[in-house]
Amino acid sequence: MIKLHENGTVRISGIKPELVFILRTIEQVFNKYKLDTVITGGTELHDKAGKLIHKIGSKHETGEAWDIRSKHIPKIHYDFLADELDTVMGVEFQLIRHSSHFHIELDYKGKL
Ligand SMILES: [Zn+2]
Repeated sequence: MIKLHENGTVRISGIKPELVFILRTIEQVFNKYKLDTVITGGTELHDKAGKLIHKIGSKHETGEAWDIRSKHIPKIHYDFLADELDTVMGVEFQLIRHSSHFHIELDYKGKL
């Protein structure tokens, strides 16, 4: 199931259609491992305290990036799941592995 971060800061307004499409693909991979797909970052800029969440100029600002929780993935599955995501997302997306989440952005440069 696709869920938004429990803290209520995630915004999805302005997200590009390509990101909506790829989210379904991402969900299918997480489903295989019986894990929820939790969006921890979208187009929001600030947290509830007004602190900047993403770097200035990041692809979150332009609706071209998701942050998806990864800290709930069991260690033994992490590499398989991340590699599978990398494969199924094709050449238009770049996946960056952070300690708590995957940053997934529209980025043709990543693989072409
Ligand atoms: Zn991010």
